[in-house]
Amino acid sequence: MVSQTIDLLKNEIPLEQESVDLSQDVVTGLVLVDIINGFCTVGAGNLAPREPNRQISEMISESAELAMHFCDKKWPVLAFIDSHKPEKPEDPYPLHCIEGTEESNLVPALSWLEKEANVTIRRKDCYDGFLGSIQPDGSNVFVDWVKKNQIKTLLVVGICTDICVLDFVCSTISARNLGFLTPLVDVVVYSRACATFDVPLRVARNTKGALAHPQELMHHIGLYMAKERGAKIASQVSWVGAKEP
Ligand SMILES: [Zn+2]
Repeated sequence: MVSQTIDLLKNEIPLEQESVDLSQDVVTGLVLVDIINGFCTVGAGNLAPREPNRQISEMISESAELAMHFCDKKWPVLAFIDSHKPEKPEDPYPLHCIEGTEESNLVPALSWLEKEANVTIRRKDCYDGFLGSIQPDGSNVFVDWVKKNQIKTLLVVGICTDICVLDFVCSTISARNLGFLTPLVDVVVYSRACATFDVPLRVARNTKGALAHPQELMHHIGLYMAKERGAKIASQVSWVGAKEP
């Protein structure tokens, strides 16, 4: 019944995904959105999955594989980490990812990234990594990272497809269109390395203040809305170009 409804809705907003070839001769930057314990590790906190979740596990393994490829090549990687002060909760969500806790650390499969020279870590206290990159002096860590590395293609992965990933993609594409992100051209969202959380309607109805959030459908809608803004949605990413030995 639930999957039939999801299929009906997906028929109304069909999402065509691409197999995207990324050239090794063009600078590509990898953005990892919030692949941290507080959102991904079973039992790690108020917004962590309560039980193992296939979409989240696949997102982690695909992202880790990409991160290894980027680090082998010394290509630029930027990891956003949701991180809040205890006295400043993020409405409407319960307390989560408090700075200095394990919740606000990369998942075990990615924790090695902290030591890699090509990786920039940005702790943010809002959904949108673009806005969360603004420094007290008005500069923007993400914008500076794109410009310093002369990034032309951005590969975006992480969690949640329909919240932090989508917000970041929307802001980035608007900023690119305004000319703030030269030389960035393409924003690619790799769908298999994205995930969102699952609150089925029957659970939301029994939880005070909860919104229904069926995982598969919200993931689909997140990707669809990113595509609506002009992102490429990739179901597969391959590398082409002369630099591959
Ligand atoms: Zn948060």
